[in-house]
Amino acid sequence: MALLPEFDPADSRAGRGLIERLTADAAEVQQDVLDEILARNSRTEYLRRFLLLGDSTPAAADLREAFKRCVPVSGYEDVKPYVDRVASGEPSSLLCSEPITCLSRSSGTSGGQQKLLPSTAEELDRKVFFYAVQSLVRNMSLHTDDSGGGSGKGMYLMFAFHGDRTLSGLPIHSALTAYYHSRQFQDRHIGGFDKCTSPLEAILCPDGNQSIYCQLLCGLLHRRIVDRVGASFASGLVRGIKYLEDHWEEMCSNIRSGQLSDWITHAPLRDAVIARYLQGSDPALADEIASECARKPWDGILRRLWPGARYIRTIVTGSMSQYIPILEVYGGGLPLFSPMYGSTECASGINLRPLDPPSHVSYALLPNIAYFEFLEVKRENDHEKVQGNDNLGVVKVVDLVDVKIGRCYELIVTTFAGLYRYRVGDLFTVSGFYNATPLFHFLGRRDVVLSIDYEKVCEEDLLSAIAEAEKFHIRPLGYMLCGSTAYADISTLPGHYILFWDLANACDSNATFDIDGAAMEKCCLAVEECFDEMYRKIRHRGSIGPLEIRVLGHGAFNALMDFFVSRGTSASQYKTPTAIRSKEAMMVLEERVVGRFFSQATPSCRSAEFERR
Ligand code: AMP
Repeated sequence: MALLPEFDPADSRAGRGLIERLTADAAEVQQDVLDEILARNSRTEYLRRFLLLGDSTPAAADLREAFKRCVPVSGYEDVKPYVDRVASGEPSSLLCSEPITCLSRSSGTSGGQQKLLPSTAEELDRKVFFYAVQSLVRNMSLHTDDSGGGSGKGMYLMFAFHGDRTLSGLPIHSALTAYYHSRQFQDRHIGGFDKCTSPLEAILCPDGNQSIYCQLLCGLLHRRIVDRVGASFASGLVRGIKYLEDHWEEMCSNIRSGQLSDWITHAPLRDAVIARYLQGSDPALADEIASECARKPWDGILRRLWPGARYIRTIVTGSMSQYIPILEVYGGGLPLFSPMYGSTECASGINLRPLDPPSHVSYALLPNIAYFEFLEVKRENDHEKVQGNDNLGVVKVVDLVDVKIGRCYELIVTTFAGLYRYRVGDLFTVSGFYNATPLFHFLGRRDVVLSIDYEKVCEEDLLSAIAEAEKFHIRPLGYMLCGSTAYADISTLPGHYILFWDLANACDSNATFDIDGAAMEKCCLAVEECFDEMYRKIRHRGSIGPLEIRVLGHGAFNALMDFFVSRGTSASQYKTPTAIRSKEAMMVLEERVVGRFFSQATPSCRSAEFERR
C-alpha cells in the first residue's frame, strides 16, 4: 500500500476498507514508514552524527537497527540549533532531504513554550490525508447518508493569521494557518467535502474581531442548512458563543436591514459577505434568531439557533475537558464529538468512535503519518514507585504495536520533516486496540504544571482535582466553571497556588450572582485534598500557603487569549493553559479579579500525622 493512499472521503465503503487495512497492518506500515524516512534522511547532518554511515548504502534492516541503537531520544533543545540554522539560510538538508518550505509555530499554550518546527510540502499532503480520514470517520459514524456525507454545512470557527518570515525569508506560520492557506483546504472548503458556512475571506482575515463576527453572522444566515457546529478546541467554541451573546443584536440588525456593520472594513471580507451571504434584507430570519437569542437562559442555544445540527465537533479531551459542562448546557443534548489529537510536530490521532462520551474518547494514531515510539512512564501512585526528576519515572521505549492496555506512555515521533525520536510531551494511557492499532486516551502534558517546593502537580492531577471540586462544591450551588487556569505564586512567603476561575450561573451565563464565600473556601480545600501526599505534607509544614481561588469578571479569559494571540499564538490552536507561568499573563487576569478566597484549613496528610505521633 502506498504510504499516502489517495481516496475519496465521500466514498464510505472504500474509506472503511482503507481504515481497516491501515489499522490491521500497523506494524508493517510503521516499518515501511521508518525505512522510508531513513532511506531519505539518513545522510542529513542531524542523523549522520549518530548513524556514522560509510560510502555504501546499508540495507534497510541495518539502518533500522542502527537507528534504534544509536539515535537518542530528543527534545526541542536538541532540534532548535538546527532549526535556527535553517532559519538563517543554511540548507534544509541539515534536517531532512526534502526542502523545508515553512517553519510551523506551536501555540505554546499547552507546553508553555512556543516552538518552531520544520515543515515540508509533503507534510501538507499528510495533513490533508489526516483531515480526509477525519471527515471519512465522521461521515461513516455520524451521517446517515451513505453516499457522501450530509448535504449540510458546518458552522465551524477557524482562524488563520498572517505569519512571519525568518531572516532568510522562510515563512513562519502556525500549522493550521499553513493548512488554511493551502489550495487543498480551500478546494475542500469551498466546493468539496467539508463545506462550511464561514467565508474563506473570514478565515483568512488578519483581524480576529472582524473574522469571528462575520463567521458567526454567516453561520446564522445559513442556519437552516447547518448540520454541525464547532471549532478546533473547546475553548475557541465557548469564546465564540460568548461573542455571539454580546453581538447577536447587531447581527440581527444586519440581517434585518441587509446592511453589514460599517466597522467590517477588511475589503475582501466585506465584499464576500455582502456578495455571497447578505443578499437583501431578511426580517423574518432576523426575528427568528432574535427570539431564540433573547430567550434566557441560553441552555440549548446551539440546538435552537442551528436546529439541523447533529453534533458539536470540537476537542474536549485533556485541558479542554473543563469546557464539557458548559458545552453540554449550550448544546442542549447535542453529542460532543472530539475528532482528533494532533500537534505542530505531527497531526496523527483520529477518534474512530465519534459517539463515545467525552470521558471515554481515545485516539488511534494513523500508522502511515510518522514513526511512533513510546516511553513507558510509571506514575507515583502506581505500585512501582519510580524516582525521577519529575513525578513520572521513565521506564523504556516501545513501538506502536507493542504498547500494553492500561499502561501510561509518552509519545515520541520520528517524522519525514526532520524530527527524530522527538518527545512530544503528551501522556496517554492505552484504552484498547482497533485491529492491531492501539487506542490512546489523552492524559495531559508531561511537564509539571505547578511546583513551589519539592511537590510537583502535573496537568492530569490538577484537572481532576478541579473537576472534583466543581462537581461537589460548585455545581450544587447552581454555578458552572467556564474556564480555569493556575499560577504558582512565589512573590510572597510562603508561596501558594492560585486558581483563576471564570464562574457563571448555570441557568443563565450572563446573569450576575453573589459568590458564596464559604462554598468557595470549601472548594479551595477540596482541590488541595485531591493533590498528592507530597503537596499535603509540605502544606502541613507551612512551606506552601493556603490555596487561593480568584474569581474573575466577565471576559477575563478572552483577554488572556488576546494576550497570547498578540504574542504570536494562533487563535485556532489556542487552548486555555492549564497553568500560566508568565507574570504578564497573570497580570491580565489579575486586573479582572472580582473575589478572592483561601482554604481555611490544611488538607489531611497521613505522613504528617504519623510524624507528629
Ligand atoms: P500545538 O502544537 O500548539 O497545536 O499544540 C499541540 C498540543 O495540544 C498537543 O501536544 C497537546 O498537548 C494538545 N492537544 C492536541 N490535541 C489534543 C486533544 N485531542 N486533547 C487534548 N489535548 C490536545
